[in-house]
Amino acid sequence: MWLEMLITNAEVYQVGLYDLRIDGSIIVEMGRLQPLHGEPVVDAAGGALLPGLTDHHIHFLSYAASLSSIDCSPSKVANGIQLAELLRQTPGDTWLRGFGYHESVAGDIDRHWIDQCCDHRPVRIQHRTGRLWIYNSAAIEQLKLAMEQQNSNHPLTTSSLESGRFYDADQSLGDLLGRHLPPVAEASRRLAAFGITAFSDMTPSNDQETFSLFKRLRQQNNLLQHVQLARNKPFTQTNPTDSVMPGPVKIHLHESRLPALQDLVDRITLSHEHGVAVAIHAVTEIEMLFSITALEDAGTIQGDRIEHASVTPDYLLEKIKALDLTVVTQPQFIFGKGDTYRQDVAADSLPHLYRCAAFVNSGIALAGSSDAPFGCPDPWSSMRAAVTRRTSSGHVLTGDEVLSPEQALALYLGGLHSPGKFRQLEVGATADLCLLDRPWLLARRTLHSDHVKLVFNQGTPVYQKQDCISLQYQKAQPTL
Ligand SMILES: [Zn+2]
Repeated sequence: MWLEMLITNAEVYQVGLYDLRIDGSIIVEMGRLQPLHGEPVVDAAGGALLPGLTDHHIHFLSYAASLSSIDCSPSKVANGIQLAELLRQTPGDTWLRGFGYHESVAGDIDRHWIDQCCDHRPVRIQHRTGRLWIYNSAAIEQLKLAMEQQNSNHPLTTSSLESGRFYDADQSLGDLLGRHLPPVAEASRRLAAFGITAFSDMTPSNDQETFSLFKRLRQQNNLLQHVQLARNKPFTQTNPTDSVMPGPVKIHLHESRLPALQDLVDRITLSHEHGVAVAIHAVTEIEMLFSITALEDAGTIQGDRIEHASVTPDYLLEKIKALDLTVVTQPQFIFGKGDTYRQDVAADSLPHLYRCAAFVNSGIALAGSSDAPFGCPDPWSSMRAAVTRRTSSGHVLTGDEVLSPEQALALYLGGLHSPGKFRQLEVGATADLCLLDRPWLLARRTLHSDHVKLVFNQGTPVYQKQDCISLQYQKAQPTL
C-alpha cells in the first residue's frame, strides 16, 4: 500500500474537477492541492474518476476456470459441425473443459455425440445454465475409476452414467475428481482491467471452506477486489475481514421442482433470524411469483434481493417495490443471448425480459452484474446493452427499457452491502477508484472498457493501461 499519493486534475464523477489526496486506503483531501515533499503524483488530465465498479453477481472460481477452457456458446459455435471441429482441434490429451453450451448449437448432446468428435481425451462440457454437465466416455471412465478407488456411494444415477448427462451434480463430480484451483490471479487481473474493485460471488454452494480459500487468495495478493460471498446457509462467519465478507444466503429455485412454499418461507425466516438477508435466484415468471409470495409471508429485511428477475410483468413490479427488494440484473444477456431469446421466449414474455427502465422508474433498487462465466464479465459491455437494448445481430429488444449512460453506470456503482445505492467519491471514502482516459461527456458515448486507464483498490494501483504513456508517477519536487 502506498502511504500517500496525489491525483491531480480528476473529473470526480458528478462532483467536478478536483485534486485528491489519498492516505493509505482513504481519500483524505479534495480541492486544489499542492504536492507534499516526495509525494507520488498522478495527473488524471481531466479524465473521469469513478468509484471502483462492483460486479454484484459473479461465479468467480468458475469464471477463472473458464479462462482455461473452450467456449461452446452459440456466439462462438453456430452449430454441431463447428462444435465438433473445435473439440477435435483443441490441442492436448488431458482433460478438456467446455462451457456455455446451449441446445441451439447441436441439440441434447450426450457422451456418444462427444465421443464421435473427441474420444482420445476426457471431455466435459457445461451447459450455459451451469446446471448440466455432459461427459464423454473417457471422462466417465475416470469417474468410474474414482468411484472404485474412493469406494464411495455418490448419488450419480445409472442413466446419467450411461448418457453422460449430469444435472445438478457439481458436488458429487467435484468430490470424485477433485477440485483444481483455476487461474484466479489472471481472472482477478482481468476484472481489475474493467475497473472492477469489488464483486459478490453468488455461488450457492459457498461454505466455510470457500471463505478460507478467498481469504487465502486475498492474503497472497492473488485477489485484487473486495469480495462478498453468498453462502449456502446462515452459518456464523467467525472472522470476517474488510476484503472478504459474508453475504446473503443464496437460494436457487428451479421451476420444474419448486419446494413446498412453506419450506421456502421457513428457509427465509431462519436466515432472517440470524440477521442474514437472502438472495433468491428467480428466472421465470413462476419462480418470481413463488419467491415474492414466500417473501411476503416471511417478511423482508434490508439486503434481501432477487437475482436475475429475468421475466417481470408489471404486477410483480409493485410487489417488489412494496417489499423493498433489490433486483440484481444482467443487461448484457440482451446482447449475448438476445437472439436466442427472440426465438425461444414466449411472445407475451418478451416485453418483460431483463427489464431495466421499468425497475428504475418504479423506484426499485437495481444493480448490475455479469453472472460470469455464464455471461460476459465486462461491465461496460453490459452498460452498452442497457443503453441500446441491442442483441448481437443488431435487433432491439424491448426498446422502452433503455437506460441513460448514467443510469447504466449507476448499476455498477453500488457497494457490496447496498448494491442499488450509488457510492460518491468524497473525503473519508475508501480509495477504490477507476480512472478513465477521458471526461465522462466523451466516455458516455462509447461506454467502453478500453477507456479504463488506472484502477486502485484501497489506494493501491491494481491496473494500469499498458499503452498509457501520459501516466507516469512523478515524485513531486520539494516546494519552495
Ligand atoms: Zn449466477
